[in-house]
Amino acid sequence: MRILIAEDEPHLSRQLASALTDAGYAVDCALDGERADFLGATESYDAVVLDLGLPKMDGLTILRRWRDAGLSMPVLVLTARDSWHEKVRGIDGGADDYVAKPFQMEEVLARLRALIRRASGQVSPELRAGAVVLDPRNARVTRDGVVVKLTSHEFRVLSYLMHHRGRVVPQSELTEHIYAQDFDRDSNTVEVFIARLRRKLGASFIETVRGLGYRIEADR
Ligand code: CA
Repeated sequence: MRILIAEDEPHLSRQLASALTDAGYAVDCALDGERADFLGATESYDAVVLDLGLPKMDGLTILRRWRDAGLSMPVLVLTARDSWHEKVRGIDGGADDYVAKPFQMEEVLARLRALIRRASGQVSPELRAGAVVLDPRNARVTRDGVVVKLTSHEFRVLSYLMHHRGRVVPQSELTEHIYAQDFDRDSNTVEVFIARLRRKLGASFIETVRGLGYRIEADR
């Protein structure tokens, strides 16, 4: 899963990036509104954290441009404390949720998990497929109750497929959702991660649908 952070305070941006990376997400940061608008319109994100007060282009304008363009990714807006009209404008402008500054990082993480869960049609906080359970709350994966150690990229691949289980996910789509924008992708290809996940989770756990992509069966 991949998240865009649009926040102009460098310290806060770094804190968010660090917490989200630790939680297992690929993260891109935009420090001004024009950059945020560009990245949101051209890259694929599973959620966006959008500060409303951004230089060059404000958050509400960005939100309106994205929604007018038909972009449907979940957006969590960061609002000024006690500014109820900012919250209302954000929600009415197409945001899915808000957090007021200053906030606890745990709250941002929990709200993002919920937004991503709902956007992918999941009901329960744990993602389950056969003997494998992925818990986004602690970035933990178990197989038959035993913890499976995964690298950050293996976790992202598995997390994306688990959020979309039952559906064939094209390799190109998977690629768009597991790497940060500045990451060198050449030596870390999706096929390699899939092969390693099969070794750890069972050879048949991730199915290759020839010419189409990869699939984890729902409810097996
Ligand atoms: Ca700001």
